[in-house]
Amino acid sequence: MTDCVFCRIARGEIDARVVAEGPEWLAFRDLQPKAPTHVLLVPKRHVTNVDALADEDVGLAGVLLAACRAVAAAEGLEDGYRVVTNVGEDGGQSVSHLHLHILGGRRMGWPPG
Ligand code: AMP
Repeated sequence: MTDCVFCRIARGEIDARVVAEGPEWLAFRDLQPKAPTHVLLVPKRHVTNVDALADEDVGLAGVLLAACRAVAAAEGLEDGYRVVTNVGEDGGQSVSHLHLHILGGRRMGWPPG
């Protein structure tokens, strides 16, 4: 997946406003934020979306969720936040590399559009 935009960000080939990093993941600010805090958390290796997670990726999924908690704490989201991952066309996924949106800094509505 050499031309995947999030793979390229993970390799440092495209600039991004990185907020945190772990051995398996990178967190950076969304280019078009939908909330006062809008961070994208991506695995460094290419996985298309939740639907493409293999059984052996269960560990990675746990690492990503734990990283959400660390990013939210670092961003000062003690009043709460939302974690969203869009899957496929109906889910509204526009970048085909698994990413968790971490949104906070305002009260979220429900249900999502
Ligand atoms: P989704 O629609 O769930 O696939 O979300 C993709 C997100 O990636 C959108 O919120 C975009 O604003 C964001 N995005 C796309 N390209 C970049 C980029 N180069 N740097 C940061 N965020 C990006």
